[in-house]
Amino acid sequence: MYNFIVNLFSVDEYISLLEGSENASQKSKVIIIPLDGKESIETDIGNVDETSSSNDILSKYSNREDLLRFLKANSFVNPTHNNANNIGKNKGLMSHSSFHFKLTEKLINADNDGIKRKIADFRKDLETTDYYYKMGKSCDAVLELWENGHEGVFPLWANTEIKKGDYLVFLPPETDIEKFHPMFKVYLARRVLKYRVTDSGICSACGKEGPLYMLTQGNTFDLGKDRKFLLRKPTRFMTNIRSKSTNDYPVCEECALKTYYFFEYLKKYKLYRFAFPTTITVHTDDYKDYSQQAKGILSMLKKIYDKNHSKPFDYILLTTDPKIKNIEFRYVSDFKFNLDDDLKRNIRDVPLYDTVIETGSDPLGNEWNKLSLLLDYDVVFNNTLSKSLFETNPKNLIKSLHPFLKLKIIEYNEPIRNFLFFNNASLFKDRIHTRMFRELLSELIENENFRDEMKIGAKKIRKILLVYYKYISLEKKEVI
Ligand SMILES: [Zn+2]
Repeated sequence: MYNFIVNLFSVDEYISLLEGSENASQKSKVIIIPLDGKESIETDIGNVDETSSSNDILSKYSNREDLLRFLKANSFVNPTHNNANNIGKNKGLMSHSSFHFKLTEKLINADNDGIKRKIADFRKDLETTDYYYKMGKSCDAVLELWENGHEGVFPLWANTEIKKGDYLVFLPPETDIEKFHPMFKVYLARRVLKYRVTDSGICSACGKEGPLYMLTQGNTFDLGKDRKFLLRKPTRFMTNIRSKSTNDYPVCEECALKTYYFFEYLKKYKLYRFAFPTTITVHTDDYKDYSQQAKGILSMLKKIYDKNHSKPFDYILLTTDPKIKNIEFRYVSDFKFNLDDDLKRNIRDVPLYDTVIETGSDPLGNEWNKLSLLLDYDVVFNNTLSKSLFETNPKNLIKSLHPFLKLKIIEYNEPIRNFLFFNNASLFKDRIHTRMFRELLSELIENENFRDEMKIGAKKIRKILLVYYKYISLEKKEVI
């Protein structure tokens, strides 16, 4: 699994994906405070690009790309989601950077002694970092502004209205901005790779030799107490980070960082159910802004299939919850999007087809691929199936749905999902297709209440029969 994550994108590509759009509210304010005493600059998170080119002070910085990255304060405040990783730990000013700060409620409302302690903790810890070692002058200027700002000589937010969630960015000279980015990367790596397993060994993912880290409990994904079992071996309930067991996968710093970015990226784009192709060339752009709905995955697989000149390909389907607490990876080899040619027949040859046209309802298309199958099945389930394809708990289905339909969705979504995404043909091989239609139709005919509640008449029943006959040939082949 690590091999796949590590080979998917380079660190720079992950960074570009993570910088795609800001997570923070577009209304959060950014107050940029130049360290040379010039007047502070105020803008909104959404307008940082514009301000950086129109403002007199900012437009003088020649490396626009570096400056813009620097002004996107959100990326530097708490990327590991763990306050204990901040400079000054969770007692300090809450940031992974010497220049970027988020105004928290605690900070805004802290009394004199409280804020003094926070600044003192921050100073003590900052002085031990590379930031201080290599940009001491700028770091001292930041500390001085905090200390004086607090004493009222130079109030940091005296002339502006601030609220929780706004950012303070201290602007150092351009030479320090250049130094900052690589230094931040090192700082982040040190904070996420706390547990070095060995000083020299072979990386389990890329095979390079060097210091190795372990991606298990309490290490790269040490994002809080409830997150510790990420990627842990399922059989291992206790993890000893010093263990020499072959069950461990020590990796090098670069591979560990890529894995860290991979999960950051999943969180940022809310890719809870997502397909990653493994056998064709992909570009970071292909991964941006995809839907998290089940139907979205099929559309995406179709796009990959088309790009691959309609040839089967391998992919990994990742399914997780929004908190990325439980992750399941499924490796699918030889994924075909179109259904087998020799099993197709013209839907117009089914006698029922004419009747459906005569009664004026939409005839079904003659497309024979997995997406059309899902759309056709969706008709049968009153457009509730594709949304619930990954649902296992009937309580999470649409409340107003008839109990019988709820029952059948939970019963049949797995074989349907397995056929659509994982090349598992049980749906037709075991004649589950027929069983499902038989049950639905008999309930529709016998249960008046169900029929009424679903507002189903003869027209709809004809259409359901048509869907049944359309795909029956897929079953027939298996029977012979
Ligand atoms: Zn490696």
